[in-house]
Amino acid sequence: MGTLNDLKQKFGDRLKEHEPLARYTTFKIGGPADYFFETKTTDELVAAITLAREHSIPMFILGGGSNILIGDHGIRGFVIKNSTGSIRMKGMKGTVTGGVAKKGLVFVEADSGVIFNSLVRFTIEEGLAGLEMHLGLPGSVGGAIFMNSKWTHPPGFVGDAVYQAEILTPENKRITVPNAYFHFGYDTSSIQKTKDILLKIVFALRSDTRERLWQIANESIAYRRDSQPQGVCTAGCAFKNISKAPTSAGFLIDHTGLKGEHVGDAYISDVHANFIINRGKARAADVVQLIEKVRAKVKEKFDVILEEEIIRVGEF
Ligand SMILES: Cc1cc2nc3c(=O)[nH]c(=O)nc-3n(C[C@H](O)[C@H](O)[C@H](O)COP(=O)(O)OP(=O)(O)OC[C@H]3O[C@@H](n4cnc5c(N)ncnc54)[C@H](O)[C@@H]3O)c2cc1C
Repeated sequence: MGTLNDLKQKFGDRLKEHEPLARYTTFKIGGPADYFFETKTTDELVAAITLAREHSIPMFILGGGSNILIGDHGIRGFVIKNSTGSIRMKGMKGTVTGGVAKKGLVFVEADSGVIFNSLVRFTIEEGLAGLEMHLGLPGSVGGAIFMNSKWTHPPGFVGDAVYQAEILTPENKRITVPNAYFHFGYDTSSIQKTKDILLKIVFALRSDTRERLWQIANESIAYRRDSQPQGVCTAGCAFKNISKAPTSAGFLIDHTGLKGEHVGDAYISDVHANFIINRGKARAADVVQLIEKVRAKVKEKFDVILEEEIIRVGEF
C-alpha cells in the first residue's frame, strides 16, 4: 500500500491502475498492467524506473509494443510506456564547404521513445543516409536497438548506425556508452541481458541526396507491401531465421502446409507464413498454441527447431 501511495504521490492522476494493455500493442492482445504510466520526457522516464527499482516493483518498459505478446492475465507490477519524443541534430565530423557536408559523419540524437518511422523520415529530409532502408519498421527507437531490428532489401541492422547511447544502468546511473557496448548481432544486443534501459541514442549518418534516400525508402515500403500482410494486427515475424536452415523460417512454415492454419482467431497469414495475425478476438493463449503447433510441425518435417522472435511478456 505504501508503494502505491508513493507512486500516486509521484505521478498523480497520470498513474493508472489495472490498465488494459492490448491497445498498446500491434497484436491488440494482452491483459492489464497493475500500474501504468506514460512518460513524455527522459527525466520522467528515469524517475519512474528509479522509483520502481527503489521499491523493488517489477517493471516493464513498453515501446511501440510491436515485437511482444502480452499474456491474457497481463503484467504484474509497473508498466512504463515510453513516449519520449525529441530528435536533435548533434553536429558533424568532416569537411564542410559552403554549408554542405562533403565527407564524414553527421550526428543525430533521438530519445528512445521516438517513433522509429518519424526518425527515418527526419533523417531522409535532412539528407542523411543510414536509416532510410528501415522505413516502415513499426515501434520505437529503443525497441529497435534492444532488438537490433533489421531489413533485407537492401540489408541493414539498426545497430549499424548507432554511434553511442545514454543508458540507465541497473544501479540507476546515467552513462554514455559506445556502439561496441551493445555487441549487436542478429536480433540481439547486450542490453537484453544487462537490463540497462536506453534513454537517448546518437546515430552517425552520412550526407546523401534526399531523392536517392527517398528512392531506397520507398523501395523498402513497396517490398513490405508486396511481401507482408497489410492492415492487420500482428507482431511481425513470429520466428527468427536460422543460419542452419536451407532458407527462411517463413519458407519452412509455408512448406509445412501451415498457411491459413489457426487456433481461435490467431491465424498463420496467407501472405507471409512467418506472420501470425489476430483476426479479431485472439487471446495470447491462442497465439502460444499456434506457435507451438508450428514449431512441432517444422521440427517433424525439417528437423529444425524454430526460435521465437516475438517476446512473451507477463502472465499467460
Ligand atoms: C508489421 C510489422 C513489421 C515488422 N517488421 C520488422 C522488420 O522489418 N524487421 C525487424 O527486425 N522487426 C520487425 N518487426 C518487429 C518490431 O517492429 C521491431 O522489433 C521493433 O523494433 C520493436 O520496437 P518496439 O518499440 O515496438 O518494441 P516493443 O515491442 O515495445 O519492445 C520490445 C522489447 O524491447 C524492450 N525495450 C523497448 N524500449 C526499450 C528501452 N528504451 N530500453 C530498453 N529496452 C527497451 C522492451 O522492454 C521489450 O523487451 C515488425 C513488426 C510488425 C508488427
